[in-house]
Amino acid sequence: MKKLALYWKILLGMVFGVLIGLLFTYFEGGKEIIQDWIKPFGKIFINSLKLIAIPLILAALIKGVSDLKDISKLSQMGGKTIGIYIGTTIIAVTIGLTLVNFVNPGQSINESTRLEMVENYSGNTEKYKAEAKIQKDTGPLQALEDIVPENIFSAATSNRNMLQIIFFAVFFGIALILIPEEKGKTVKNFFDGFNEVILKMVDLIMLAAPYGVFALLAALIVESPSLDLFKALGWYAITVVFGLLLMISIYVLIVAVFTKKKPMFFMRGISPAQLLAFSTSSSAATLPVTMERVTEHLGVEEEVASFVLPIGATINMDGTSLYQAVAAVFIAQAFGMDLDFSTQLGIIATATLASIGSAAVPGAGMVMLVGVLGYAGIPEAGLALIFAVDRPLDMCRTMVNVTGDAAVAMLVAKSVGKLGDPYAKSWDDNYEMP
Ligand code: ASP
Repeated sequence: MKKLALYWKILLGMVFGVLIGLLFTYFEGGKEIIQDWIKPFGKIFINSLKLIAIPLILAALIKGVSDLKDISKLSQMGGKTIGIYIGTTIIAVTIGLTLVNFVNPGQSINESTRLEMVENYSGNTEKYKAEAKIQKDTGPLQALEDIVPENIFSAATSNRNMLQIIFFAVFFGIALILIPEEKGKTVKNFFDGFNEVILKMVDLIMLAAPYGVFALLAALIVESPSLDLFKALGWYAITVVFGLLLMISIYVLIVAVFTKKKPMFFMRGISPAQLLAFSTSSSAATLPVTMERVTEHLGVEEEVASFVLPIGATINMDGTSLYQAVAAVFIAQAFGMDLDFSTQLGIIATATLASIGSAAVPGAGMVMLVGVLGYAGIPEAGLALIFAVDRPLDMCRTMVNVTGDAAVAMLVAKSVGKLGDPYAKSWDDNYEMP
């Protein structure tokens, strides 16, 4: 029998997770059984992915940068990467804004539903506002200051410090290029080997992926709020999801046009990472898998992927920025506010920055949304309106965040002549477009 492809296995895990979750909500004590006996396996799975995120970035980036052997190549690739990342983010926010103005989902929320939701979720809103305030109370250059850690070992103790680790790794890699090859050889070989080991760990963890996502989704279902709330927010959720789907089609199109790879090639190659992003709601936790898929299934050479992807997981969040634009305007609509054109233009800028600043972890986009609301003078209490559906939307936007990183990795690889054909040896299909 033909072996089932990984994405089918993960998809099956997800479907069973949802079904078992639904089943267990129907009888008393079912929720607790899932929480006590199934949920921990999901947590273990996510932890095992997070566990290797920092070592992976360190090893992959040091190897990637030092492989370039030339500083000018690095700055060329760095410029392209950041430029394309910002470009795709602006496209995403613009799509979000256009859709939300067109669909006008805020109109479907009546006065009493709005009051009820603000009442129900006000506690959560306060929590998010407090988190956002910590970020806001700092100076304009704080983000830049934060990139340079004062101690690499303490920086490496938290997955939230990815940019600091990236900074250290790139710096280390550059220095490695600059010393005589003979002297750097041992260090380079060490990181090459280290990188291989981490990639093997990703392979091994992925064997457990179908079971991991099963546990994650079963737990999510038994813990999700009532269906009624979802209904009230239907149009808002549909607008976000439709925008996200549009964004995925744009990636597919850009990849097809610029790299001449067929849509199926791209979607098939990246799908396990997408499903994992959906199940974990974290681009950081998905990074090891994104890296593996992009290098081994999409043909991006390692030195490009190991540079472009960790940076993308941290700063390129197209799904998040699109969602932030829709959410901000939706809340304004629900409160009966009219946002003028210049405020909406400002939302493009703030949502772009807010998505860059969002950590690659579940719910981070909502924390940074507070900044966008603050800029546009939209009541922060409105966060309570979107709270109920935030988790499912987080799952969808994370999927888009990861897809965007992969698409940009392919574009950058193509532009520097580092895009190969991974299937040439093992597949019969010719995925190359004429
Ligand atoms: N969960 C998202 C990610 O990790 C960030 C967010 O939008 O909350 O990519």
